[in-house]
Amino acid sequence: MLNDDVSSGGGEPPSHPSFESLKAFRSAGRGPWAQVADSDWNDWRWQMRHRITTLEQLERLLPALAPEERAGTDLVAAKLSMGITPYFFNLIDLSDPLCPIRRQVVPRLEETDRAPWELTDPCGEDRHSPVPGLVHRYPDRVLFLVTNRCASYCRYCTRSRLVSNASGYGFHPDFERQLDYIARTPQVRDVLLSGGDPLVFSDDKLEHLLNRLRAIPHVEFLRIGTRIPIFLPQRITPDLCGMLRRFHPLFVSIHSNHPHELTIEAREALGRLADAGIPLGNQSVLLRGINDSVEVMRAHVQKLLLCRVRPYYLYQCDLIAGSAHFRTSVQKGLEIIEGLRGYTTGYAVPTFAIDAPGGGGKVPVSPDYVLSRNAERVVIRNYEGKIFEYPEALDCAAPCRAGQGAQSDWA
Ligand SMILES: *Cc1c(COP(=O)(O)O)cnc(C)c1O
Ligand code: SF4
Repeated sequence: MLNDDVSSGGGEPPSHPSFESLKAFRSAGRGPWAQVADSDWNDWRWQMRHRITTLEQLERLLPALAPEERAGTDLVAAKLSMGITPYFFNLIDLSDPLCPIRRQVVPRLEETDRAPWELTDPCGEDRHSPVPGLVHRYPDRVLFLVTNRCASYCRYCTRSRLVSNASGYGFHPDFERQLDYIARTPQVRDVLLSGGDPLVFSDDKLEHLLNRLRAIPHVEFLRIGTRIPIFLPQRITPDLCGMLRRFHPLFVSIHSNHPHELTIEAREALGRLADAGIPLGNQSVLLRGINDSVEVMRAHVQKLLLCRVRPYYLYQCDLIAGSAHFRTSVQKGLEIIEGLRGYTTGYAVPTFAIDAPGGGGKVPVSPDYVLSRNAERVVIRNYEGKIFEYPEALDCAAPCRAGQGAQSDWA
């Protein structure tokens, strides 16, 4: 009943690892797979084949399974599959029932709760899809969903309606229709491959898709969104990196939430991508009890820079059905950004954003550094709360070139 002790505050207080310990790079080790040959352990296909997908496996590996976890795992068959790579499983701290790694991938009963404002498609993606599996929300870029599979499944996944196909959504991307839409839509200059996780594909399949995209003249910029460097760093092989580098400019956005995910193995995998000239960004989801503190986030973003990854977005958790136990207040996210800005490297500070419910896209939300503003002056505060005044410049005092240009009757 360790769980009750912690939540009621009646027993051992949860241990807070120090900043130094959060920042340390460790290896995942072998844990229960000590007997497995190196060649198997380091083979990404072996890791995929040996994922933890059933309650029996979980009970064997996690002896102190909480009743909520057991019940949750029983129920996931109809929602979002369980899948945990042996590598990622080894990052779970067995002595901590609230382990931030464990809570991201081990199902819990709370996932079956549903608040009235929660949705199965919280970002209104389906309604912005001109063809299935292609989301065209912004003027110049599209989100290209290429698969419903991932190396492991995140319990708060915003696309759980289609990811893993547990809910019977029947997602079957039709690449021909998706590519055809991109080819006949010249304003699309940026294609973001996502899913699911595009790096579950073989090198050949991915290469074929990237070749098809590169054959479209107006597609300037390619990106891949993937959590594989975190769930399955073994997938980031020299062959994969050698293939990807032929498609530049190509950026990769990874998804990491907690400093413990940044292991020696992940750092090496990210280094291989960076050495292939691929700029790396990170997207995190703000998750209650997992990364909702300045200290954890500061360690995380600094560690990302050590892995040559620039923190890109921090998302407020979407209103996906069964995610209430993961959500924090927006205020918490603002506090975290305030606790980073000025206190650490500017490159380490992500943009905090809410993906507007129903389909408005990503809206940045920022602490208020502008205290007041009028035509004469802007009053600002710095990260320490000190107040400064900036005298406003006049953009269009006559005569001014922009003003003249606007006078069409002069022409
Ligand atoms: C996030 C997202 C993008 C990319 O947005 P950026 O701010 O350019 O990273 C594009 N399309 C959709 C539908 C998205 O959700
Ligand atoms: S890796 Fe991404 S798409 Fe896959 S389950 Fe996690 S959040 Fe969802």
